[in-house]
Amino acid sequence: MRVLKFGGTSVGSVKNIEKVIAIVNKQAASHPVAVVVSAVGGITDLLLKAGTLAAQKDETYKDVFLEIHQKYTAFAKALTEGDAIVMADIGALMSHLDDLLKGIFLINELSPKTLDKLAAFGELTSSRIITAAFNHQGIEATLKDSRQLIITDGTHTKASVLYDRTNENIKEFFAKASQNITILGGFIASTATGETSTLGRGGSDFTAAIIAAALEVDQLEIWTDVSGMFSANPKLVKQAKPIRDISYHEAMELSHFGAKVLYPPTIVPALSKNIPIYIKNTMAPDEAGTRIGEQEGSNGNPIKGISHISDVALLTLEGAGMVGISGISKRLFEVLSLQQVNVILITQASSEHSICIGVMEADALRAKTAIETEFAYELSLRKIDPVIVETSLAIIALVGESMKSHQGISGKMFSTLGKNNVNIRAIAQGASEKNISAVIAEKDVKKALNSLHEVFFEGNRKQINLFITGVGNVGAKLLDQINSQKKYLKDHLNLNIRVLGLSNSRTMLVSEQAIDLDNWEEALAQGEKADIVRFRENVIALNQRNSVFVDITANEPVAMAYEEYLRNSIAVVACNKIAAAGKQEYYANLKRLSRKYNAPFKFETNVGAGLPIIDTLQNLIASGDSITKVQAVLSGSLNFVFNNFKSGGSFYDVVQQAKEEGYTEPDPRIDLSGVDVARKILILARESGLELELEDIVNTPFLTANNLESTDVPHFFETLKEDAAHFEKLVADATAAGKRLKYVAQLDNGKASVGLQSVGADSPFYNLEGSDNIVLFYTARYPEQPLIVKGAGAGGDVTASGLFSDIIRLR
Ligand code: ADP
Ligand code: ASP
Ligand code: MG
Repeated sequence: MRVLKFGGTSVGSVKNIEKVIAIVNKQAASHPVAVVVSAVGGITDLLLKAGTLAAQKDETYKDVFLEIHQKYTAFAKALTEGDAIVMADIGALMSHLDDLLKGIFLINELSPKTLDKLAAFGELTSSRIITAAFNHQGIEATLKDSRQLIITDGTHTKASVLYDRTNENIKEFFAKASQNITILGGFIASTATGETSTLGRGGSDFTAAIIAAALEVDQLEIWTDVSGMFSANPKLVKQAKPIRDISYHEAMELSHFGAKVLYPPTIVPALSKNIPIYIKNTMAPDEAGTRIGEQEGSNGNPIKGISHISDVALLTLEGAGMVGISGISKRLFEVLSLQQVNVILITQASSEHSICIGVMEADALRAKTAIETEFAYELSLRKIDPVIVETSLAIIALVGESMKSHQGISGKMFSTLGKNNVNIRAIAQGASEKNISAVIAEKDVKKALNSLHEVFFEGNRKQINLFITGVGNVGAKLLDQINSQKKYLKDHLNLNIRVLGLSNSRTMLVSEQAIDLDNWEEALAQGEKADIVRFRENVIALNQRNSVFVDITANEPVAMAYEEYLRNSIAVVACNKIAAAGKQEYYANLKRLSRKYNAPFKFETNVGAGLPIIDTLQNLIASGDSITKVQAVLSGSLNFVFNNFKSGGSFYDVVQQAKEEGYTEPDPRIDLSGVDVARKILILARESGLELELEDIVNTPFLTANNLESTDVPHFFETLKEDAAHFEKLVADATAAGKRLKYVAQLDNGKASVGLQSVGADSPFYNLEGSDNIVLFYTARYPEQPLIVKGAGAGGDVTASGLFSDIIRLR
């Protein structure tokens, strides 16, 4: 004999009920089956809603009643082709329900006892319809009213079972039963005096376990809408996987802490008779599902699952008068128990100065009032402070029996939450170490579950979520590179990079779903109007783990937004130089925020595009080296210009060409005035540990005053023509001396400078080609032969790859 329970979704449509019939019928060929069914999904909620409305004298309860009536009548009709007897039975049940609701409306009151009468209609009706559906297909099945079998005490809405009588009833009934298939409504029971009672929301699972234990069957099967008990709620964590084997105790912890797939009390009867529970999916019956049994079921992972409870409130009782006084906890828990407040979590510091308890939000005010009444005397003497109530919280719990023999789990849990800016309000770990729980803000639940799942279940695969502003030439290349490297990063670096946000100057898009990188342009074009502040607000509101803001603009307001990103633990990867080369104070503050909020701030592409210059410098410093001198050619644009400018040629033409080919900023004066190079050496100086402003960089211009005073770009070009002789002289002098012109940046003895130099063939700069950059680091460890980084220092592809490297470095 087996007991099979089918939940609300499993009996939630005509199609699904047909699946139920097929599953049961197959089993019935080899053994008798007791089939416990829930109300059709959502009906219990509707029944309670109708009752509440009626009790408030709100006539719209009738609409809710009608919805229930129509749904059940339609089911009965479809499953039995409108069988007259069945339709009459359903009609009678609905008319009783109607009478009950009218009564509630008239007396303007809804007691727990009446609530149970009302809620019972869900299962009473569904079990009747489902039995008829079996019979209509020519399958013999008999309906049994569970209220005649399961007897409870006199409490309502979550009654306690009187096992002696219940077990006797069940055994007696099934001993006499001749039918192979018995259908029973779950959730419902009756008191010793014959009143309808219920076993608590989700209680159909419990009904099935009670019957299974009384009959000592071989196995209990809970058929639902997911393929087992998952490592986390699959509706919130996409990567969650079904747990194949789990112990009774682990399953109990998970369900107590919110894994709704199993009603927690269900495990007790099954455990008492050592009956394995299988969780199976009605919609995918061939999938293995989960087996809950006696074994610890080791899968090599000490954590079996992560669950959470929403709508939690934290109550803190504190005061100097609590220290060393015995009996405070006793009085606290007694008064809560009297008020039937269920305490989910308790923490008390060893100083005994405060006790913190987690309760359901709905109980919070009742609990506060009860506690303050109990401790009124101590409150009046100010020995205890008024109870502090915090709401909008949730509890997340890591569960696993073998956690006790593994160290470092709580450390990993809390550091993961910390890294993701999830604030922990309270923690609790039972001495049995089956469970570590933390109270966090409700808004952080999804992020917390996903980041913990990633760390404990996904072999450390890390998801990085990008929000990119400025998708012009470099941005488009970055997206291309990410798209084509996706698989490699997953396979080799365990990295899953997703782009969740994009913005250009016209439109923007931020979504919880990864943007398809094959069609990002269309998606972005359909986005809303671009707005720097709203973009940031949306990114922060999305609250995704490992979020990264990528700035590929040259825009000042965008650079000014970094602080707020970092404060929300969102990393910043910037191509934009304005922040790192802006005011020292701003740069230093960004660095401070980055450390404080554990959010990296990376800007490798600020100097030498994709070349690992800043990274090298940071590694030297971090490993204890010190910088004595830096010499560098850092301007791809100026290299291009001076490599192509030959004696007898036109400086104007060369600059024009450099601009057209994208080697200069749109305003070439930024490059030619040396400001851009000065910013780069400033960044290197700061990364070497100096505190400098841009004005501290000595900049000897090679442009004429006439060039520098030009009013706009076309005027600037005019002045280049006017001053052609000046440039001809520069290049002719150098050539005559066997030298070449290079624009050199230097940091020596704490002083930084930039300027045009004539370098001879013995200089490492002499043979620098095209737009190449070169940096020579002289350090304590590299005193004579410098450490050299050299290569292409400009261009869309290399800049995009520099950004990509910064993103990968975040892992
Ligand atoms: P039924 O109506 O069949 O009793 P429930 O809605 O009570 O179904 O329980 C199944 C639901 O439990 C799933 O759809 C899922 O959303 C939720 N759930 C929460 N945590 C877990 C978990 N760890 N594993 C599986 N399901 C979970
Ligand atoms: N129908 C009840 C409820 O919704 C019992 C159950 O489905 O398990 O809570
Ligand atoms: Mg359920």
